[in-house]
Amino acid sequence: GDDGQSLETTEKRIDYLIKKWPNLAPLFERVKNRSAALSVPNQSPMERFLKRHLSVTQLCEQSWCEIKMAYGFIKPKVRMLEMQNTEVTTGASIHLARELEVKPNVVTVAAVTREDREALKLINMLQMVPALEAGQLVQEFPVFGVLEGMFFMGVVDELYRSDSGELVLSELKTRSHNSLPHPAQTKGHALQVGMYKLLFDSMVKGSVKRDHLLHNLQLDPNRVLGSDLQTHTQSLGLQAVTFRELLDHLLVVLTCSNLHAIDKLRLEYSHQSSGKLIGTREVAFEEAQLRTNIRGYLAYWRGERVPQGVEVEEAWKCRMCPYEETCDWRRDRSQRLMMVNKRAKLES
Ligand code: SF4
Repeated sequence: GDDGQSLETTEKRIDYLIKKWPNLAPLFERVKNRSAALSVPNQSPMERFLKRHLSVTQLCEQSWCEIKMAYGFIKPKVRMLEMQNTEVTTGASIHLARELEVKPNVVTVAAVTREDREALKLINMLQMVPALEAGQLVQEFPVFGVLEGMFFMGVVDELYRSDSGELVLSELKTRSHNSLPHPAQTKGHALQVGMYKLLFDSMVKGSVKRDHLLHNLQLDPNRVLGSDLQTHTQSLGLQAVTFRELLDHLLVVLTCSNLHAIDKLRLEYSHQSSGKLIGTREVAFEEAQLRTNIRGYLAYWRGERVPQGVEVEEAWKCRMCPYEETCDWRRDRSQRLMMVNKRAKLES
């Protein structure tokens, strides 16, 4: 198909460059590997990047630029550096400060196995459900489930009841500029809260099944919880010895609670250096459109199409991208644009 042909052309071009400048071969080989990783036609990105499930934030990154997200897997160090230098780190510390305000009594429990670590999340959820039912604010609420055939995980920043009794889901974002974001950035944030709502709603409706979690996270249902964890569950009045018992208990609690679907989606933007609130935005929930968008993003993960970079209308995104200098998509886009301009000049 087309993908195979363009890959072959790129590889031939790189082989030619290696022959011409053998001393630069390691550099050209790296470029060749990266091109192959982005466009291998007979292996889906799920297989190539060894994934069984996706996180909600991964889809939000994808909505910004798919090529950038794919480069992030191939060049994780560049991505890590970018994360350290951006709003993410400050955002994380602001989140933690907000969390500690609400939960001053943090208990330390040793987790030995993967099942123990997941069990800790479930125990936290079991404590948050009654708090939320009682009208209290809860933070860092895990959500998981299957959307459009893919298992997703995420963590909701805040859930609370408004004065009028509506269940509100709020996502906190930090900004280096003391202003509300560009609509292109809000697009990813709206996708995030919309997906959180779909996952939360399906959890309280009882659509999430035990096997979804066990299978997709490859957890052993019969794993006996660590002794520290068992002491902790007993202190909370929970009767669970194995991971399966704990998970079953949580699923029953969620479906039997008086919690219902999320009523309102909200984005809250704070200024990074001062920590002051910049403003909030309500997000409209349009389920059909949201599900169509999710299916579109998943088509990439399933290997049904090649990744798409940003088009010329959003070329400003490339100026703040750590892969700007080496991005094949950006280079090809510039060449395409030059050809279009040339043709327009000739025709005028
Ligand atoms: Fe995407 Fe532009 Fe970065 Fe390339 S340079 S990865 S097209 S944002």
